[in-house]
Amino acid sequence: ATEQCEKVAVTVALGDGIGPEITRATLDILAAAGARIAPEYIDIGEKLYLSGHSSGIAPDAWESLRRNKVFLKGPVTTPAGDGYKSLNVTIRKTLGLYANVRPCVSYAPFVATLHPKLDIVIVRENEEDLYAGIEHRQSDEVFQCLKLISRPGCEKIVRYAFDYARSHGRKKVTCMVKDNIMKMTDGLFYKVFQEIAVEYPDIATERYIIDIGAARLATQPQRFDVIVTPNLYGDILSDIAAEMTGSVGLAPSANIGEQIAMFEAIHGSAPDIAGQGVANPSGLLLAAVMMLVHIGQAEVAARVHNAWLATLEEGIHTADLQGEQSQQVVSTAGFAEAVIARLGRLP
Ligand code: ATP
Ligand code: MG
Repeated sequence: ATEQCEKVAVTVALGDGIGPEITRATLDILAAAGARIAPEYIDIGEKLYLSGHSSGIAPDAWESLRRNKVFLKGPVTTPAGDGYKSLNVTIRKTLGLYANVRPCVSYAPFVATLHPKLDIVIVRENEEDLYAGIEHRQSDEVFQCLKLISRPGCEKIVRYAFDYARSHGRKKVTCMVKDNIMKMTDGLFYKVFQEIAVEYPDIATERYIIDIGAARLATQPQRFDVIVTPNLYGDILSDIAAEMTGSVGLAPSANIGEQIAMFEAIHGSAPDIAGQGVANPSGLLLAAVMMLVHIGQAEVAARVHNAWLATLEEGIHTADLQGEQSQQVVSTAGFAEAVIARLGRLP
């Protein structure tokens, strides 16, 4: 019973651009829903880059992350120009966040979409492939980037995808690769997929070559359930799938490692609308819902998710969304208030 009441320390970064607005909205909703969390704030992003930390993060922030092991992260801006490393890639690699889980769901007719039956989860490998950072210049006119795929890396991500499918009541895992061309790297990914699939006879499997797979996803997303794929393909597929549901502002992501997990929206810091109070907090809020499940507060997660759904179903949404008959366009804070007012109500 004491465990029930204990607050879980969570590292929180407000981020840049619309980050502070959507993160505050999200934390207000979590507090009203009775989430048992104790936020510990760290500064990352623009402010750090400009104060001389070329990686956009300082040592005390790393300590907070390593201590708390749970991270709710607002979007950050990587300044343009040489010498600034992407903080997102740095964090994922430093903390070993090997699985990037991106659920994409349509909410038709409450959110306008061409694909009302879209309901998929993309499990993207998050450390290897062309993101491994092995890039160099061969001569003044020739540059090279190496694709790195390892057996342990494949085993971790493929097993994660099957475990996820099983624990979330999903029926099928589709592997998307280009192993007809990259026989060794993508070939290994698919080989491991076949080996591990044997251990999950309750889950159906299939393989698509990434090009036709992406095309099918764009026209018949209802054919897919869980998709597991190397880093770059997963990056591209998940942006497409999120946009197909109606707005990039809707989709959350969980970045999972052996020790540490990070939860964030899939969109960026949206400097074009920052400070106006119009941003959609849904992507980060749904990421926070995934975080609550991760830290064992599934009942709070369900309360927040249901209130969020009820809000959309009543036609209340931010300006980036269009509904069948849009009733009420509200601000970021107005949307948070509407969700809070619906906590505890069944959808
Ligand atoms: P980054 O490089 O940081 O990922 P990006 O170039 O991918 O950034 P985003 O910041 O994701 O761009 O923004 C893309 C477009 O989507 C912008 O027009 C932005 O205003 C819009 N957008 C992104 N997130 C939201 C949101 N939460 N609510 C409303 N609009 C959003
Ligand atoms: Mg982006």
